Amino acid sequence: MSRAAIGLDLGGTELRAAIVSESGRVLAHAQVKTEAAAGPDAVIAQMAALARSVRAERPDLEILGVGIGAPGPLDSDTGIAIAPPTLAGWRDVPLRDRLAEALSMPVVLDNDGHAAALGEWRFGSGAGLRHFVYVTVSTGIGGGVVCDGRLVRGRRGLAGHVGHMTIVEDGPACACGNHGCWEALASGTALGHEARRAVAADPTSRLAALVGDAPATARHVTAAAREGDAASLALMAEEGRRLGIGIANLLHLYSPERIVLGGGLSSAFDLFAPAMRATIAARAMPEFRAVPVEPSALGLEVGVIGAAALVLAPDPGRGPVQPVFASASI
Ligand SMILES: [Zn+2]
Repeated sequence: MSRAAIGLDLGGTELRAAIVSESGRVLAHAQVKTEAAAGPDAVIAQMAALARSVRAERPDLEILGVGIGAPGPLDSDTGIAIAPPTLAGWRDVPLRDRLAEALSMPVVLDNDGHAAALGEWRFGSGAGLRHFVYVTVSTGIGGGVVCDGRLVRGRRGLAGHVGHMTIVEDGPACACGNHGCWEALASGTALGHEARRAVAADPTSRLAALVGDAPATARHVTAAAREGDAASLALMAEEGRRLGIGIANLLHLYSPERIVLGGGLSSAFDLFAPAMRATIAARAMPEFRAVPVEPSALGLEVGVIGAAALVLAPDPGRGPVQPVFASASI
């Protein structure tokens, strides 16, 4: 019987589940809107139901366990979601054990940045490397660092919050409580804020027409930029500059062989890459300038593949997943 794992990617808006093969291929997939305002009980019930539904599609496989990538901060050693800002009412929720109980399966929990980095390292653009940084640019900015052949975990597994390095001392407020974090300046959310400013400054632009009465988002900017809208192209160049500043920091800190960008905004990689590369060339020391910076090979599936990789191919710092129940009941 072929072996596989279930990957659950818990986001503040979408909850995704997949069955992933030992070679990192998605064999079944399902997703629902996360009931983020309904509290942990409702969301954990959603997660269990979604895991069961993908399991039902592939009863022919031996399921080794369930991996969860969830928003941080969380304690991956104890499996506790500490206080994810995108999920209402979550404080010190023992997510790993609650789901293991609901599914009678071994469960591994890690933050979504670590999980995605692991997935990209094992099955994507980072395969075969010993030094690698993954950055997800979407609603926020997260990531994970592989250094000397292992995922950098740090105390309580909290390392790798790359989105919260300060870029501008008195910059915009960040969800973490600080100011001027990389996330507050260069996430998709931040780009949406910039887009709103641009629409107010020029209501006759193509961007303003695409936005209409809706709140402007990063998606509007990339769509208008692809149509040649000057204001949107300028916003994408500024986005690239801001990303480049953070990437230069990561190059200096970790000396990776490659940096990979995933998340929703990586679909606009070609639009921001020239300014990003110019910024890296201007700010990184010469020894670091040739390091490739590339879009994710796994695309939108990186979340579920990475979550499953927590079970299928855990990093050496973590050790193999120990079955906690004698047999799988789903
Ligand atoms: Zn922050």
